[in-house]
Amino acid sequence: MTAQLIDGVALSRQIRSEVGARAAALAGRGRTPGLAVIVVGDDPASAVYVRNKVKACHEHGLHSVLEKYDAALSEPELLARVAALNADPAIHGILVQMPLPRHIDPQKVIAAIDTRKDVDGFSVLSAGELMSGLPGLRPCTPYGCMKLIESTGQAIKGKHAVVIGRSNTVGKPMALLLLQAHATVTVCHSATPDLAVHTRQADIVVAAVGRRNTLTAGMVKPGAIVIDVGMNRNDAGKLCGDVDFGAVREVAGWITPVPGGVGPMTITMLLVNTLQAAESQP
Ligand code: NAP
Repeated sequence: MTAQLIDGVALSRQIRSEVGARAAALAGRGRTPGLAVIVVGDDPASAVYVRNKVKACHEHGLHSVLEKYDAALSEPELLARVAALNADPAIHGILVQMPLPRHIDPQKVIAAIDTRKDVDGFSVLSAGELMSGLPGLRPCTPYGCMKLIESTGQAIKGKHAVVIGRSNTVGKPMALLLLQAHATVTVCHSATPDLAVHTRQADIVVAAVGRRNTLTAGMVKPGAIVIDVGMNRNDAGKLCGDVDFGAVREVAGWITPVPGGVGPMTITMLLVNTLQAAESQP
């Protein structure tokens, strides 16, 4: 059996067009959704991510502001910029691109963002809202993974989901979102002695590790949904995920490719969060 491909590019296109329509309706009522992106320093990967985020905003009728600062920007200066954006009625979402220079405490900066504008969903308050099942802004990557899983049309309720990875930005919120959708959830990590014991029982596997070939064909239950969050390079320097895609697609029922799976959905959910923030702010 060859798995059906879960096409993150096509799903993104569909969701982005809905975002565009809702953004236009909101703009018609005098409120164009606005995202501010702050970058400090000149990390080359950050520059690419930020460019893509700002471009996606412009393409779908969202207002976006890019603030670039020299790596020497002080922590108080950055906190002052966040405070100014918190108070700016034209800005509904604030994203501070990580990593920050070492002299700036990222937790302090994230905590300074008004929770209603925390479109990355990384603050302790946003994490608490997710943990408590309260409405709020969800971290974009796991939120996108949920949309990819839902797009298969398969019920999540009652299924066994295994999340590999427990980072605060991907693995943990992913597990909570699956739990909220009534899956039975197992979270694996680097101290899990036998990963395959867990993944072989899973109806849904989300791999968020950052190590290629973490999930191989023998570790997958036939017909499972496999979501590959990983972004790695193979020996030829080509982008690949955590899943041995060629072999696993012969066992799984549904699978996301890398590239073209989770990656585009992360930016799409940032647009969704910005729109949601604009719709819900007074
Ligand atoms: P991270 O903070 O490094 O976390 C990796 C997790 O994997 C940790 O919880 C770690 O366990 C676990 N792990 C490491 N080796 C393992 C092993 N052998 N078996 C089982 N678990 C293992 O990474 P992250 O930020 O969550 O990101 C994970 C991957 O997703 C990376 O490749 C990243 O680039 C990618 N990513 C992609 C997107 C996208 O938009 N496509 C967005 C975000 C991240 P411990 O906690 O025990 O150390």
